[in-house]
Order: sequence, then C-alpha cells, then structure tokens
Amino acid sequence: MIGSFLFQICSLIYILLISAIYFYKKRINTIENNIYKLLIFFDIIILIIDLTSVTLIYNMDIFPILNIIFAKLFLVSLIVWEIILTIYVFTISCNENENEKKICKKISIYGLSFLVFSVLAIIFLPLHFMRETNYVYSYGLAAQFTYIATAFLIAVWIIRLLRRLKYVKRKKCTPIVSYVILTIIGAMLQFYIPQLLVVSFVSTFVTALMYFTIENPDVKMIEQLNIARDQAEKANNAKSEFLSNMSHEIRTPLNAIVGFSQALEAENLPEEAKEEVQDIIMASQSLLEIVNGILDISKIEANKLEIVNAEYDFNRILEELVALSKARLGDKPLEFRTSFDPTIPAVLYGDHTRIKQVILNILTNAIKYTHEGHIDFKVNSVISGNICRLIISVEDTGIGIKQENISKLFSKFERFDLEQNITIEGTGLGLAITKKLIDLMQGKIVVQSVYGKGSKFIIAIDQKVVKTPTIKIEEKKTVSEITKKDFTGKKILVVDDNKMNLKVATRLLQDYQVEIETIDNGFECIEKIKNQEHFDLILMDDMMPKMTGSETLQKLKEIEGYHIPTIALTANAISGMKEKYISAGFDDYLSKPIDKLELNRVINEILNKS
Ligand code: ADP
Repeated sequence: MIGSFLFQICSLIYILLISAIYFYKKRINTIENNIYKLLIFFDIIILIIDLTSVTLIYNMDIFPILNIIFAKLFLVSLIVWEIILTIYVFTISCNENENEKKICKKISIYGLSFLVFSVLAIIFLPLHFMRETNYVYSYGLAAQFTYIATAFLIAVWIIRLLRRLKYVKRKKCTPIVSYVILTIIGAMLQFYIPQLLVVSFVSTFVTALMYFTIENPDVKMIEQLNIARDQAEKANNAKSEFLSNMSHEIRTPLNAIVGFSQALEAENLPEEAKEEVQDIIMASQSLLEIVNGILDISKIEANKLEIVNAEYDFNRILEELVALSKARLGDKPLEFRTSFDPTIPAVLYGDHTRIKQVILNILTNAIKYTHEGHIDFKVNSVISGNICRLIISVEDTGIGIKQENISKLFSKFERFDLEQNITIEGTGLGLAITKKLIDLMQGKIVVQSVYGKGSKFIIAIDQKVVKTPTIKIEEKKTVSEITKKDFTGKKILVVDDNKMNLKVATRLLQDYQVEIETIDNGFECIEKIKNQEHFDLILMDDMMPKMTGSETLQKLKEIEGYHIPTIALTANAISGMKEKYISAGFDDYLSKPIDKLELNRVINEILNKS
C-alpha cells in the first residue's frame, strides 16, 4: 500500500519546498509569473486530493460516498491544471501584435467554459474502483472523459506551438515542448496502465522543471534585465543614428555657407565686408565644432569611436595647431609662446586627427578662459626604442579652476563659474571627449590649476616612430599663402545630388581656371565616361540616392581604360573615413564643408601629375 503513496508523498514534499523558495524570492509581476503561481497552487491541490483519494479507497467500505467525491475532485483538479497550462502556452506564444493580457483573458474565458463542461461530465459520468493487493485505481467513463479532455488540450497546445513556433522565445520553446511530450507520455501511461498513478507525479515534475528553467524568479529577473538592456541599447543606437543623420544634414548647408564665404573672402571686398565674411567663417567653424562634438560624444556613448592609426607628419600638425590657435586668439592681448623639442621624429604612427583634436581642445580652452597674460604651448618627447612619448603641455594665466571642480572637469556638460563666463561660448563636451580620446590612445592627462591665477594641462601619449616613412613630408601653406595655379585646359567633373553643393564646388574651383562640369547622379557620370568624355579629375559625393559615389566608382572601374583620379566628397566626416575611401579605390578624400587648404592640396597634387 505504501508503494501507492510513495510517488505522491515525495512529489508533495518536493513541490512544497519549491513553492516555499518560489514565494520567498523576490519576483517580477508578469502575467506568466501569475499563471505559474496558479500552476504551483493547483499542483499542491492535486497531490493533496490524490493522497486523500488513495487513502479513502483503501478504506472504501468506511466512507463510500467520500471515495466518489474525492476521486472525481481529483479528475477535476487535473483538468484545472491542464487548462492553466493551456493558458500559459497561449500567453507565451503571443505574436508582437498581440497583447499578452488580452490573449490570457480570452483563453481564460474558453478555459472556464471547458472547465464547466468537464465538471458536469465528471459529475454525471460513472466512476468505479479497482482494488488489488498491491494497487488501487479508478476507472469508468468519468476517468476516460478526463483522458480524452487531456488529449484534446494537448492537441490544442501542439497546434498552437506549431503555428507560433517563431514567436515562442527560443529559451521557452525547449522546456515547453519537453513538458508537452512529458504530459503526453504521462497521460498515455495512465491510460494504458491505470494502476501506475503517475498523473500527479507528471504534473509535479513539469511544474518543478518549469521552476528550474523558465519560471525561476532569478531567471525571470535576468531575462527582464536583458530586455531592459536591449531596449536601452536600441534607444541609444537610435539616438546615435539620429545625431549622425543630423550632423550630416547640418554639414550640407554649412558647406554652402563656408564655401561661399571662403570664395568671397578672396574677392576684392571693402575692408568692413571682408571682416564680416571672416566673422561668418569663424561662426561656421564654431557651429561645425559643436556638430562634431555632438557626433563624437554620441559615438563614445555607443562605443563606436575608433582610433585609426596611420603615418603622419607631426611637425605639420604642430604648424596647423599654431596657425589655428593664433587665428582664435584674434585681438586678445595674449602672448602665445611655443617651444617644441627639435628631436621629435618627423614621421610618427598614430591617429593624427584625434591627436590634433585633443591638443586643439586644450589650446582653445586656454585661449577662451584667459583674458590677459600668456599661453605656453610646449611639446617634448622621450624616445625609447621605436616609441616616442609625446609630452604636450599647455599653460595659461587664465581664470583657473577651483580645486573642487578639477575632479568634475572631464564629465560631459560640466561648465564652471557660469555667471562669470556667461559670454564664453561652450558646450561642456570638449574635455569629456578629450579625456575619452586620450584613454582610447592609452595616454594620460593631468591638470594643475590655481583659481584666479591659471591652469596647466599636461598630456602624455605614446606614438610609434616611423624610420622609413612612406608619406611625403611637405610644407603646409596657410590660407593667405595659397598660390592658386592656373590650370587652364584641365577639366573637372563634379558629381553631387545636392544643387547647392554643386554650386559651392564650382565657385571654389573657378579660382583655378579649370573647365568645370557638374552632374547630379552617378548614372550620368558612368554614361559620360563610357562616351569617352575626357576629364582630368572627378570629385564624387558619396551619399547620393539610388547609386552612391562608392558604387559609381566600382562601376567606373569596370570600364576598360578608366584611369581618371577620383576624389570622394562626403559630409559624413568621421575619423577613419579617409582610409575607408582610399581602400574603396578613391585617390583621396575631402570632407564637407570643403576646407580650402585641403582642396588646394588635392588639386595641386593631382592636376600637376596629369
Ligand atoms: P566648454 O569649454 O565647451 O565649456 P570643456 O569640456 O572644454 O567645455 O570645459 C569644461 C569646463 O572646464 C569649462 O566650461 C571651464 O569652466 C573649465 N575649463 C576648461 N579649461 C579651462 C582653462 N584652461 N581655464 C579655466 N577653466 C577651464
């Protein structure tokens, strides 16, 4: 007799332990969790009824009516458990357009009707008992009805799961399919060998398995955290994409403003007008820096900012930095002093764009926050093996930074003494970006400051020394020094879908006395080259609808004998773009707004060769 109880007693102890842990742990309030609570609850009820019912059968003669009541109650509780599992299967297999709550409610109504029908059937259908020496079980139409009802519910789960397989999250699919298979095996065993009494054991086993796989509160918590993290990542990516698109959109009109202003600056304008044009250029420059800053910070936050190393001429970077700083000084009564270590190797290997950006940020701040006195810009180096440690220091006699603010200096959007500095433009992003870039380049930045007296920023960055450079070292000319060569007889084709960009390029190229042709798509460009039209240079915008500049170039390269130097033009000016375009087959790259100096370099390099 004990053998008949063993399964049930063990199952009851086991499920009670699991439910104690389950209800003790902190849980998330989801529909699935609530359905699972019911599954545990009804499993305990099934086991209690089962135990009582078996005990009563062994004493059949004492309480004959109670036997029938408990045996039928057991069948009803089994159907209730199966219905709850059906609601669970339907809830977890919702598609993205369905609301879990609504589906759960709808299935609960069907479930309730099915339960009422089953209860009536079980009450009115006959049930008999079989008692042998070693086992005891019930049989008859009520029991058979329960098996058929269970088989029907299992068929419903299978159809639902097969139809919604792709919506059942992968993790949930395996346990649920195993439960379905287990329940089928259990039901069949019980049907063919009724004396086994495994039904309540199967329901416990499935409920316990669910606890260890998908309904464990810890697993649920992690799952919810993962969902929250995925959503945050998605939102962050959407924000980065939005910022990147915005930056591209802002650069396009800015290209027109800078381009036309640069062209006007070179005209014989009255002094006052010339100054105004220079102000427009300066203002556009500030706007461009803000756009670049926002783009950089969004990339840093999305972990998408990369360091792109290449050979570069360090002295040229220094010259550019000095020229830019002097231009930014304007008419401030400041002495700008420089001291550069002459032993710094001419060609270094690193990300020159980011090195320049970092130093320019520090220099610009020194200029912005110093009203009188001087700024010392020093670069020293320590060489060991093929590594050159650059030690860059910028010291100013400016407003200084309070000691308590130094630790907050590199956090984004932090700006200090706003009442005093209200007239100084800034976004509070510069130093946050600077620090992140220095970290990415494995460098260090240190700040010393005395409030009211001045500040000193020291940066140390290691760069590789290039002993046999593959790049040419040339002297950089400032805008005023540009000597525009006369390239009469040369023909340049500009391809850009934006009419304003075509006008700007035409205006900037006019100074070189070249013949200029403009078209607004890649298809026409391919047509012209196929028709053997001759050009000495093609300036090709990359981001064009229907066919991008890169795609156009690939098609051009398939034309036999194609050898026209082609320069990529893009407003998507991020670090590493030049390398990307050169590896895509372009001869060089110009970012928008087009820099007059860069344009001059490219035109001279290419047209002199042709
Ligand atoms: P922004 O200059 O655009 O405000 P930064 O991130 O470059 O943003 O600088 C953050 C803040 O640090 C500035 O607003 C300023 O208060 C302070 N700061 C930075 N450099 C200096 C400096 N050389 N002298 C005094 N204060 C400075």
